[in-house]
Formats: sequence, structure tokens, C-alpha cells
Amino acid sequence: MSDPSLDPIRLPPSLWAATAPEAPATSPLPAGEQRVDLAVVGAGVTGLAAALRAAERGASVTVLEAAEIGWGASGRNNGQVIPAMTRADPDLLVAAFGAEQGERLVALLRDSANTLFELVRRHGIACEAVQNGWLQPAHRESRLALSRSRCAQWQRRGAPAQLLDRDQVAVLTGSRFWCGGWMNPTGGHVNPLAFTRGLARAAIAAGAAIHTHSAVSSLQRVGDRWRLNTRGGSVLARRVLLASHSYSGFATPSPWPGLARSLVPVRSYQMATQPLPAELRASILPGNHALSDTHADLHFARLDTQGRLVTGGALVLATGYEQRLRRRIAERLLKMFPQLAALDGIGFDHLWHGVFAATPDKLPRFWRLDEGVLGWVGCNGRGLALGTALGPVLADAALDGGPAAARLPFEALRQIPGHAFAPLGVKAASLYYRWLDGRD
Ligand SMILES: Cc1cc2nc3c(=O)[nH]c(=O)nc-3n(C[C@H](O)[C@H](O)[C@H](O)COP(=O)(O)OP(=O)(O)OC[C@H]3O[C@@H](n4cnc5c(N)ncnc54)[C@H](O)[C@@H]3O)c2cc1C
Repeated sequence: MSDPSLDPIRLPPSLWAATAPEAPATSPLPAGEQRVDLAVVGAGVTGLAAALRAAERGASVTVLEAAEIGWGASGRNNGQVIPAMTRADPDLLVAAFGAEQGERLVALLRDSANTLFELVRRHGIACEAVQNGWLQPAHRESRLALSRSRCAQWQRRGAPAQLLDRDQVAVLTGSRFWCGGWMNPTGGHVNPLAFTRGLARAAIAAGAAIHTHSAVSSLQRVGDRWRLNTRGGSVLARRVLLASHSYSGFATPSPWPGLARSLVPVRSYQMATQPLPAELRASILPGNHALSDTHADLHFARLDTQGRLVTGGALVLATGYEQRLRRRIAERLLKMFPQLAALDGIGFDHLWHGVFAATPDKLPRFWRLDEGVLGWVGCNGRGLALGTALGPVLADAALDGGPAAARLPFEALRQIPGHAFAPLGVKAASLYYRWLDGRD
């Protein structure tokens, strides 16, 4: 396997893999058949939060993971705990999903950062959790209208969102690169792999079973149950939750026909600087906030406990990414935080990548794949808090059906028309939005 990020045998190298506490001990699904109430496919935050919930309710639950706990997006992301989606703002979610289900989803999203940090506290998860707020500064005067609109939409839904002027953003970021913006003080950041492993530990303590290196290759209807087949044994489940999300059929087998064609996997690069000297560390994001700005070519950063800036970017063409990214992101960081010029060059200790599930309209999708089989895709790059908050709701929907399932806008699986060309569409759209970044 030439690219370790695509090798399901082991976790790819990253800052998080180098610093997170060990995963709980797990093993592949043994030969034979296990009967459970709920089978969950995928040990990321969605699947694990769902398993924790199901086990706490007293249901028997088994999680089947193709690779390792947190091997997918959950162990590779920037760790920003953001109670908002990238483009699907509250009014858009309500327009798309209707007043009742749309507002319910908005409320879940509004509370999602609090939900995540509450889990951290309740289960004593050691994951460098910092709940000091998430900032979205505007990179141009023209984007302040977006800041005002987003802030107002969230305030109308009871979120403690705050509009920030240029000087307030300068104080919070330690930089005059931005011209205002907004923030949600419930956001923050974590070591995402440590958080995911902590969730796994909590789920196991509550009675869930987790089997790693147990890719689900197919599901088969057996009476009123579903058989999930792996290379080892199988699981016969009353209900199934597909939490394979961005990695459904991407470097892992797709657990359900057509699921992979309901999303576009988009590659995002993450990198961490060397630990910054104390005086620089104190001048950049001095309140230890998480930051992602209004660029479509997202400029984002947060600090870790050692004072590394954890940042990254997206490339339209992946060729030669290691060298290009180091140069490009170092230049970007100097623009964002000019005080970094005091360093003798910006070096990166860690560089890794992962994919997130995009949808053409940037909305999440909730699939009812068959009787008793549910799933979701489409975090569009923001799913650490959302997936964590969705997990328990998905578990209840799967186990109870009826009104519990009506809480989310489930629909039959729809594939993206012309899916084979969708990655080209995503590339073209990102070039267009980057062009707009400097113009609108
Ligand atoms: C580089 C990057 C940076 C990001 N940064 C942020 C951020 O800062 N903040 C934020 O909110 N969001 C961020 N995101 C998005 C966020 O990481 C995801 O939305 C979230 O982790 C999704 O979690 P999940 O549990 O739904 O899916 P995943 O974590 O992707 O888990 C799916 C799991 O399913 C497993 N699987 C797949 N197929 C099978 C099969 N057939 N059988 C068994 N198991 C299978 C995979 O191995 C994987 O472990 C980022 C994403 C990426 C890639």
C-alpha cells in the first residue's frame, strides 16, 4: 500500500496518532454468529455515540469496524468542535427539511458542541478538550454580511452566537488579517482521535462490543433480522445503523449497494507545526479558540496542548502534495499570523489527510435503506460535533422506529446523478469558489 492513509491495516501517521492515549483492546469478529438488537457499521464518532446510547438503554449492540477505532474521518480531522455546518445554515436546513424536522435538526446542531463536551466530562475522556469557543472571522468586508446573517439565524434559534467587530476579532485571533466575524462560545477543540477512543472505551464499559478489522461486506435479510457478513463471523441484528459515512466504499468495502454513490469523498489535508516558542504561542489565538474563516478555500487553525498550530488546506490536484502543501500553508500562515515571521521558517512536524463526505447541495442526508436499516452521510466537512450528537438519535430511531425515527428527515437512498463525474464537479466548484474568495 503506497499511501498509508488508505491502508486499513493500521492507523495512518498523524499528530493525533502520535499523541492520543491508546485505544481500548479490540479484536476481529470471531467465527460463528452473534445475535444482537443493534449492529453498527463504523467505529467513528457517529457509530460509537450510537453504540454508547444503545448500550446505556440496555440493548445488545455490536460495532463492526473495517480498520481501527477512529481510522476514518473521526481520527484524522482538525478537532474543531463546531456547532454549525459549512454552508447549510439554519434557514437553509429548515427550507430543505420543513419546519418541524428542519428546526429539530437545527436544535440538535445548535446543542451539538455542548453534547460533545458533556460526554467528555461525563465519561472523563482525556482528549485535550477546550471549550473556549469557535470563531468564524470574515476575510473580506463583503463577507461580513454572511457573518451577520449566520449570527442572526443562530441567535433566533437560541444559540449564544456573538457578532464581532474588527477589533474584537484582532484581540481573539492576535491578528489584523480579518475584518470582523462571529463566534459561538459553546464550540472549541479536542484531540479527535483521543475523543473517539474515549467514546469507544465508554461504549465498551456500558456493554457494547466493538470488533475492529471486521469489514462488513454485505447485508442479508433473514426473516425480520439482518445478517451482517464479515470475513470472520457474522452478526444477526434486529436493527442496523450504517455509520460508515465518508469511508463507505472508500478504501473499505461499501456495506450497502449504492451507498458510496450518495456522496462525494473530498480529500482534506491536515498539518501541525512544530511547538511554537512561548511568546509566539501567547500571541496567536491567545484565548485558545478554534478558528475557521469565511474562505471557501478554508483557512483554519487551532492550537494543541504543546503549542503546535494545527491547520491545513485542500488541493484541487493531489500530485506532489507533500511539498506543495508545506510551501503553500506556510505562506498562508504568515499572512494569517504575521508574527510567525520571527521563526526561522515554519516547519511542519506532521502532515496527513482524510476524506469527508460532500453532497452537491451541502445538506446532510438521512437514509432509510430498508426496513430496520438506517444511515447518514454528508457532513460536508463538519461532523465531529454533529456526528456525536446524531449518534444517540440514530440509535433511538433504529431501535424504536415510529416517532423516534420521525425526529430526522429519513428518505430512501438516492444516488447522485452522474456520480462518476461528481469529483470533477467538486473540483470545478472549489476552483470557482476560490476565485470568488478574492472577488465578492
Ligand atoms: C481531514 C478532515 C478534517 C476535518 N475537520 C473537521 C473539524 O475540524 N471539525 C468537524 O466538525 N469536522 C471535521 N471533519 C469532518 C469529521 O471528521 C467527520 O464529519 C466525522 O468524523 C464523521 O464521523 P463518522 O463517525 O460519521 O464517520 P467516520 O469517522 O469516517 O467513520 C466511519 C468508519 O466506518 C468504517 N467503515 C467503512 N466501511 C466499512 C465497512 N464496510 N465495514 C465496517 N466498517 C466500515 C471506516 O473504516 C470508518 O472508521 C473533517 C474531516 C476530515 C477528513
